[in-house]
Amino acid sequence: MKFNDLGLEPGLVSAVAAHGYRSPTPIQAQAIPPVLAGRDLLAGAQTGTGKTAAFVLPLLQLLKEPAGRAPRVLILAPTRELAAQILESIRVYGANARLRARVVFGGVGEQPQIDGLRAGCDILVATPGRLLDLAERRLADLSGVQYLVLDEADRMLDMGFIHDIRRILKMLPAKRQNLLFSATYTPDIRALAARILVKPVQVEVTPPNSTVERVVQLAFRVAKDDKRHLLVHLFENGANGEGRWTQALVFTRTKHGANRLSEQLDRAGIRSAAIHGNKSQSARTRALADFKAGKLTALVATEVASRGLDIRELPQVVNYDLPHVPEDYVHRIGRTARAGNDGHAVSLVSEEEAPLLRDIERTMRQPVPFAPTPAFARIASPAPAPQQPRATAAASRAPGGSSHRHRSRAAPRSYGRRRSGGR
Ligand code: AMP
Repeated sequence: MKFNDLGLEPGLVSAVAAHGYRSPTPIQAQAIPPVLAGRDLLAGAQTGTGKTAAFVLPLLQLLKEPAGRAPRVLILAPTRELAAQILESIRVYGANARLRARVVFGGVGEQPQIDGLRAGCDILVATPGRLLDLAERRLADLSGVQYLVLDEADRMLDMGFIHDIRRILKMLPAKRQNLLFSATYTPDIRALAARILVKPVQVEVTPPNSTVERVVQLAFRVAKDDKRHLLVHLFENGANGEGRWTQALVFTRTKHGANRLSEQLDRAGIRSAAIHGNKSQSARTRALADFKAGKLTALVATEVASRGLDIRELPQVVNYDLPHVPEDYVHRIGRTARAGNDGHAVSLVSEEEAPLLRDIERTMRQPVPFAPTPAFARIASPAPAPQQPRATAAASRAPGGSSHRHRSRAAPRSYGRRRSGGR
């Protein structure tokens, strides 16, 4: 199958060819023809499948030329990062078109966005909150929308955007073409689909686990307080004989935890930045750009960054904390093994997290194998934590005062060894 076979115009085919795509991915092959034919679409696809091009390419073709000032395409996405990436994709795939694409999301000044909309816009990519705010103040005109895309609809519902989405829907013309993309089909998603889509073509390219199958997964048992030491060891030595890690995306559960870990990694000589919802948009954008440019070895992220982040050739994802929602694990590890590449995901599992791992394994219907926890050195800590774990306390009593020396050898705690070696 070639892009030519999908009914796409030569300008679009040459833009994707120039971007290095040789053939359409399954979601593209299945979604592009019906969208070009004007059908509504319900697509089961997660990030990493090429879903962005699956809706951007046909929409670029349907729009053809710039027209008027109000957007004709509205693409709603859950996070700023995803919205920014969709805009980037539109610019790449639409390199040979003259269409005007804009993005609006919160966390940054609104004036440039308002000015952009005033100057004219064919395709508007938005997160629901900021868009609703602008639309209610009549600063975004949604009366010309002919095509609506809900991208990562399940995530938008998880994030509580349903009310905003409902209000936005009321502002759109009733007659339009609707495309809904979702990684999972929960009852809420089905209800939303039933409400929005008219006789949709349904395509399902990703049995939820197909990305997962390309990710080599590994878990280490380690006490909570020893995780940072083990992580530094893994950065320096690899997890499975692959040698020093070039780059890794590390997930923590809390924003505070992300900040603290990023500082600890930095102090251990691993260049790092944190990315989460409390960071300003410019700090998030800068951290992501620095990571993509290879200036940072570690990007420490909370869940908000786990969806939609598209980092080419990201070899390694680390679950520093396991997520409470099993699906989040799938999305996190889906940041690696993208576009057909292999990827690796390592989870650091404390005793308290064992039930979370079981839930994850049940959801994926596959086990996450444990490897023996390697002996790791302790990284220096600036001040003793209020409640030091026994091993650390013992190490700091060792001759030479380990907490002030740079490294001291320490075996993992017995928990790390007891059941290691796998299941
Ligand atoms: P997405 O699922 O849209 O986030 O895309 C995931 C990754 O796949 C992105 O890095 C895209 O650039 C890449 N990609 C999309 N379509 C293709 C294709 N047909 N061939 C190769 N890579 C692609």
